[in-house]
Amino acid sequence: MLPDYHMHTWRCGHAIGEMEEYVRAARFLGLEEIGFTDHFSMYWLPEAQRDRTLAMAEDEMVTYIREVKSLREKTPDLVIRLGIEADYIAGKEKDLRDLLLPFEFDYIIGSVHYLNGWAFDDPAQLDEYPKRDIDEIYREYFHLLQDAARSGLFDIMAHPDLVKKFGYRCKTDPRPWYEETARTFSQGGVCVEVNTAGLRWPANEIYPSLDFLKACCKYNVPATMGSDAHSPEQVGYGRNKACALLVEAGYREVATFQNRKCTLVPL
Ligand code: ZN
Ligand code: FE
Ligand code: FE
Ligand code: ZN
Repeated sequence: MLPDYHMHTWRCGHAIGEMEEYVRAARFLGLEEIGFTDHFSMYWLPEAQRDRTLAMAEDEMVTYIREVKSLREKTPDLVIRLGIEADYIAGKEKDLRDLLLPFEFDYIIGSVHYLNGWAFDDPAQLDEYPKRDIDEIYREYFHLLQDAARSGLFDIMAHPDLVKKFGYRCKTDPRPWYEETARTFSQGGVCVEVNTAGLRWPANEIYPSLDFLKACCKYNVPATMGSDAHSPEQVGYGRNKACALLVEAGYREVATFQNRKCTLVPL
C-alpha cells in the first residue's frame, strides 16, 4: 500500500479541509501511512509581501505541528508523518536552512514553483508563457531543480516536471534534462516524488513522466508517492496509476521517512 506523502490543508490559504478530515479520508481508503506537507512560509519575501493564499504564515508552524502530533495520538492505526513543502529560491538556501532547523520534520519536500519570481504553476500567471521561449523555460526549470537537489536542504523533490502543468511542452527532446536531473538527484541524495496532481491539470499526466522516472530508477533514486491533495477527497488520488507507473519504470520499492531517515518498503 503506497503512503500518501503530499497533502495540504486550509492553513496554506488555497486548500480546504481540516487535518482531521484528511486523516478520516486516509483511513476510509485503508491507507497505512500519510504525511502532511503544507506550504512553508514565503520566507524569501519581506513579511508584508507574503501572499497568504499561497503559503502558511510563519507563526502557524506551532499549531501545524501540534495538530499533527495530537492526531498521531488519536489515530494509532495510521502512521502520520510530519512533513513540509518548502520552495527552493536560489540564493536563499541559508535562510531556509536556519528557518527549518528548529522543527522535527520526518521529511522535507523541496519544490521549484518560481522561475526568478514568476510563479509558473499559478493559473493567474499563465499569460507569461507565450511571452517566453518554452525551451528556455524548461532549461531554467531543470537547472533550478538540480540546484535544489544539490542544496542538501531537501529529502524529496516534489512534482519533478511541474513545468508541464499547463500542457506547454518543450520543442526539443527533454530526455537529456531527465538524465542529467536524475543523476543530480542521485548525487544529491534526494528522492523523486511521484505526484498525481498532474492528472488534474492540462498536463494530464503524473509528475514525473515515465521517461524521467525510468532515468531516476536507473540511477537508484528512491521514490515516494504524493497526491498533492488540496482537499480531503483528493487524498490517495491516482495511487493505482502511480503504482503502475513506478512498476513500469522499474521500481519495486517505495521510500518512507521518519526523522529524515529513509527506509525502503516493497511496493
Ligand atoms: Zn498548494
Ligand atoms: Fe508544489
Ligand atoms: Fe503541494
Ligand atoms: Zn505541491
